[in-house]
Amino acid sequence: MIDSQHSLVAFFQEDLFRLLGLVFLGGLTGWLLGFFWTGVLFGLMAFMWQQWNALYQLYRWLRFNPQQSPPELRGVWSAIVYNVQRMQVSERRARDNLMVVITRARESVSALEEAVVLINSQNLPEWWNPAAERLLGLRTGDQRQSILNIIRKPEFASYFETPSLYQEGLKIASWVKAGRYLQCELTIFGKNDRLLIAYDITRLNNLEQMRKDFVANVSHELRTPLTVLSGYLESFGDQDDLNPRWRRGFDQMQQQTQRMTLLVNDLLLLSRLENEGLKSKRQHIAMRPFLQQIYDDASVFNTDHAHRIGLSIESDMDLLGSEKEIASAFVNLVTNAIKYTPKGGVIELRWSDDGKNGYFSVTDNGIGIEAHHVPRLTERFYRVDSGRSRETGGTGLGLAIVKHVLHQHDAYLDIQSTLGKGSCFSCVFPASRLVPHSPGQTPQLASKSA
Ligand code: ADP
Repeated sequence: MIDSQHSLVAFFQEDLFRLLGLVFLGGLTGWLLGFFWTGVLFGLMAFMWQQWNALYQLYRWLRFNPQQSPPELRGVWSAIVYNVQRMQVSERRARDNLMVVITRARESVSALEEAVVLINSQNLPEWWNPAAERLLGLRTGDQRQSILNIIRKPEFASYFETPSLYQEGLKIASWVKAGRYLQCELTIFGKNDRLLIAYDITRLNNLEQMRKDFVANVSHELRTPLTVLSGYLESFGDQDDLNPRWRRGFDQMQQQTQRMTLLVNDLLLLSRLENEGLKSKRQHIAMRPFLQQIYDDASVFNTDHAHRIGLSIESDMDLLGSEKEIASAFVNLVTNAIKYTPKGGVIELRWSDDGKNGYFSVTDNGIGIEAHHVPRLTERFYRVDSGRSRETGGTGLGLAIVKHVLHQHDAYLDIQSTLGKGSCFSCVFPASRLVPHSPGQTPQLASKSA
């Protein structure tokens, strides 16, 4: 066998015998002619020439024709040629296997209904599947222009340039077919390369829209009968000559219509927030008077609960957003803190910033929430303890509203809570939503409590 250790020794032996043979032949000829050492030298040179020649042939083969059959060499050179050939064969086999895998991967990605686009670090689309042409409108030749020039949608551009939003994905109206909607998802890989996956969510979007419209319409239709009912109940309930047997019934009916009114109002607010989409709301909200108003409203609601409520304004930043909506979010958090804290508790409202984000936090020392409930609190109608929530007049929609309002202001809700010890609900606003207090409204860092 040519590749065994034994045969390598044999090849060296073959070379050695050839060397000895040539030296002997040269020496003998030299001796016969009276130049022994010159003859030996010629024998050595002949051997050297053979070696260089073999080396040269090997070089030419590897450099110019590695795919052709190798030169016929002898001795240790034939072993080298054999091993090089063996490496070539195994490399070719590995390459073929890799090609099969790549081809299959490409075929499967090409067969996908979802659009897949590989975008390099210069934002140029390097490769895409046929679905990308159908859904995103990519064309041959688009490799030379930035993906942001091909997809000319401001929402897509701002999503593309904000990697922190990649996890959320982007719902966007199709620019290729009117009336269709796409979900786009970006992932960063390699050296700042991106993978864009997009799929059609028109059906899902239509269903979601139907659900939103249904809830909005039902809530709207319920409003008038509820107003009539509560109006009559109030007038009847106020009558002094009302039969005492009916009094309790009237009180309960009034309570329930009030609850239904709250529920309908919350549902309408949620529908409005959802249907308005992500419109940019950028009113300048002067935080000091705004928080003062929230604090005053909280103090009124607090009358029966007798909590000690504190307000501390530690930032001179104002907010950009919808005053009405931010107020409804903050009021929800504050009323929750009041509702879910046993009488005489301590509640702290705080507005601060860390040079980057702005924080409005409501901290209470109330009943707290078990950790496993926390991720679900912002779902509609999710209640930790539905009995208690109903007792406190909760609709189960408060935190869903907070989440929506914050989402529309590029902000998010952070919830920290320990069962039996209390909770801290913080609204975290990004720097893009903060502005220094306008001149003329010099803010004073404030702290007050009731
Ligand atoms: P609800 O109208 O029932 O208060 P929310 O959406 O506002 O609905 O709150 C969802 C649930 O989260 C509540 O039912 C309550 O169990 C819990 N929760 C909210 N805020 C607090 C708080 N500050 N302390 C303890 N539990 C809270």
